[in-house]
Amino acid sequence: MAGALRSRPVTVVGGGVAGLTAAIALRQRGADVTILERAPAITEVGAGLQLSPNATRVLDALGLMPALDAVSLPSQAVRLRDASGADVVRLDLARHRPRARFRLIHRARLIEILEHAARQAGVRIALGQAVDTPPDGTLAIGADGLHSRMRTALNGREVPFFTGQTAWRAVIADENAANAPEAQVFMGPGRHLVSYPLAGGLRNIVAVLETRDWQDEGWSRPDDPANLRAAFGRFGGPVPGWLAQVDQTHVWGLFRHEVAARWQDGRIVILGDAAHPTLPFMAQGACMAIEDAWTLAACLDHRPDQQAALLRYESLRKPRTTRIVAAANDNARNYHLTGPKRLAAHAALRIGGKVAPGAILSRFDWIYDFDPVTEAP
Ligand SMILES: Cc1cc2nc3c(=O)[nH]c(=O)nc-3n(C[C@H](O)[C@H](O)[C@H](O)COP(=O)(O)OP(=O)(O)OC[C@H]3O[C@@H](n4cnc5c(N)ncnc54)[C@H](O)[C@@H]3O)c2cc1C
Repeated sequence: MAGALRSRPVTVVGGGVAGLTAAIALRQRGADVTILERAPAITEVGAGLQLSPNATRVLDALGLMPALDAVSLPSQAVRLRDASGADVVRLDLARHRPRARFRLIHRARLIEILEHAARQAGVRIALGQAVDTPPDGTLAIGADGLHSRMRTALNGREVPFFTGQTAWRAVIADENAANAPEAQVFMGPGRHLVSYPLAGGLRNIVAVLETRDWQDEGWSRPDDPANLRAAFGRFGGPVPGWLAQVDQTHVWGLFRHEVAARWQDGRIVILGDAAHPTLPFMAQGACMAIEDAWTLAACLDHRPDQQAALLRYESLRKPRTTRIVAAANDNARNYHLTGPKRLAAHAALRIGGKVAPGAILSRFDWIYDFDPVTEAP
């Protein structure tokens, strides 16, 4: 029986995708929610996000789909190409998954939708509040991202390792982008580039290079676009035209983190990147955060015993997020193959794409068909 959250005070640390979604889900079930956010304003970096049906089901259940549809594009396909631009395989989502809602959205638009919904629902948002130790008195939800203090409070200090991969991100103007709303992945030896359109005549670019150069893990270090152009200078198709337009880019190092060993202690609980930071190669970091948020609120609402509710949340979420993080780690290798392995893998994908395109997509049904909303909390 739901209802255990009614009037319960809850403090959420961090107002990113995880924290805002959790706050909305908790508030809709009657909790008295305060978000403590370090930044002086709720803002987002200029970059895109792919949202898959496992996450859009939650956003729909929270009543956010009309707002999302107004500022996102439906993603119709995932198109794998080699570095020259030649097609390897096109996975037609519109044809093989006609009812599944894949969306392409600017991160800032998603955050605006979530912040607006949270405030409208009556969530209090306190800005400029850097929280170093878990707040006392109430249930404390750690949604404080990659360098989470709440995770450290539960697990002690942990050291991630550099994967030997550096990534650039950029957004360019592209008036025609929305004519072909698909995510494209260009795969070259030791590097790959992902691009997809965003609403409003924009195009998102993320480019990953294997390199021994060590980079910071932050997202906000500007780099000279010439470095990006040089690293992907041999890529063909539309890539040179896109890169020529980049006048601002940021670079960061990709680090591997373990999924947190401890997610909760009966009073503090973590979700999103705080619990399971992932490499971006399955485009699931924000999607997992959105799933977590729903499940956490549902478990707390269905079990008056907070300890039992948090244990249930951890037992539902840890196996799934661990598996998705592992799949993202594997994808990095698949995209960057060299020599004969690369030829063989691309040939197999080309044949598979002709013979049984639906079967290639089915490999990821366990990610996309999952519905957190119907799972028993
Ligand atoms: C290149 C790239 C592409 C990606 N593409 C996708 C994609 O296509 N699809 C997808 O699903 N995911 C994608 N992701 C992953 C996704 O961006 C993250 O997983 C997601 O943003 C995690 O949300 P979060 O709320 O847990 O953390 P964050 O978004 O990092 O939010 C954490 C919040 O906590 C605040 N905070 C931090 N410390 C404190 C403190 N001490 N006190 C108070 N507040 C604090 C921060 O200011 C921030 O607002 C991508 C990531 C990268 C790097």
